[in-house]
Amino acid sequence: MAETAGKLQTDLGERSTYDAASQCSRCGYCEQSCPTYVATGREPLSPRGRNQIVRLMLEGRTPDRDSVKEALSTCLLCGACSTACYARVPTADIVLEGRRMLEPEAPLIARILGRLAIRRPRLLASLLKIGYAFKRAGISRLGRPFLRAAGLGALAEADASMDEAPREFLCDALRRRPAPESPAWLYFAACGPNYVLPRVGLATWAVLENRLGPGRFLNNACCGLLSYNYGTLVDARDAAIRTVERWEALGNKDAPVIADCSSCADFLKRYPRLFLDDPAWKTRTEAFSARVRDVIELLGVEAAPARTAAPLVYHESCRARHGQGLAAPQELLRSVCGEGYKTLPESDMCCGGAGAFSFLHPELSDEVLRRKISNVARTGAQVVLASSTSCLLQLARGLRKYYPQARAFHLTEFLAQNDGTKTRA
Ligand code: SF4
Ligand code: SF4
Repeated sequence: MAETAGKLQTDLGERSTYDAASQCSRCGYCEQSCPTYVATGREPLSPRGRNQIVRLMLEGRTPDRDSVKEALSTCLLCGACSTACYARVPTADIVLEGRRMLEPEAPLIARILGRLAIRRPRLLASLLKIGYAFKRAGISRLGRPFLRAAGLGALAEADASMDEAPREFLCDALRRRPAPESPAWLYFAACGPNYVLPRVGLATWAVLENRLGPGRFLNNACCGLLSYNYGTLVDARDAAIRTVERWEALGNKDAPVIADCSSCADFLKRYPRLFLDDPAWKTRTEAFSARVRDVIELLGVEAAPARTAAPLVYHESCRARHGQGLAAPQELLRSVCGEGYKTLPESDMCCGGAGAFSFLHPELSDEVLRRKISNVARTGAQVVLASSTSCLLQLARGLRKYYPQARAFHLTEFLAQNDGTKTRA
């Protein structure tokens, strides 16, 4: 039996999935904001097409399974369609419900990874360290054909797309930091900065300490987004409960909880939506989610002059722009970069990273990415800033391939460099 959320929290209140999908009037107003429709021109790969498919599934009139699977699995869950839609139809959530109906059992590898990240993070860290040691030795490259042959092509693509193999994870470094009794802020270490880009987390910590004073590490595990998108709702709820219990136990309830991956910050803010049928946990998660901040919300205008004159653009990560409604921090960037800050055309269009999307659909992901990189190239930028791990990895890959004149950084990395802040491990 498929486990679905059943009810969705929409901008118009709680709705059944069927009612939410039926709110799509098929006007097509959102079509040009959808990266997969723009890339392919195919109606089933548009928001209107996807909403229609889920509605038909719920009416028991499912078109052929392969077409449905293609339409639903290729949604980036970017949310650009909901921003464009006058009725705010939550297409990404509707698509996720459709996926859960179509594949009642989440893929085993996704379930295992999701559960390890939530319940056994130290075991996951040990396994990743072994994998990274193989990568540094050049052995993992040899294993990619075998992974592909075994139907684990996504893992092979993930290995191919990573050019960093951290020796120490962010959590290990942060656990050595002092834990003040009354911190000005709490830091939530998202899996991306933790396991893949610790340099981002260290830069965020340095920038926050500089601006807000001493902070404290929440010592958290995965937020549950991996399970929500690719695993099970049961695991996603488990992650939310563990995170909130950890936060409650620290007793620093007035401090903002800051995350520097916009996808995870957005998901942490959405925890109450996981508990629409559980009033007690809905209340507890509401208290927690109200304290969550994406780091890009907290960085005011800078007084420090720019240390770089290199032309710079800002890519708006989907879960910042469309998930949390946070636009590019233009005033901050102008205060730091002056004329060096250039407006990126289509800055709020997905780069094709979208979590595991670039591993699962490498060709379509690359199509979406090429449009993003050509927009970057039109500005002549040498630096591209973003606020999600997935975007940083995807942009770095695209820049290497199509426009090597520029490099990608997290906003806090750029600010730390500009501050001259030493990011200690
Ligand atoms: S999702 Fe909204 S904008 Fe897009 S076709 Fe449906 S009603 Fe129109
Ligand atoms: S969430 Fe993004 S990829 Fe999916 S239908 Fe909407 S705009 Fe298209």
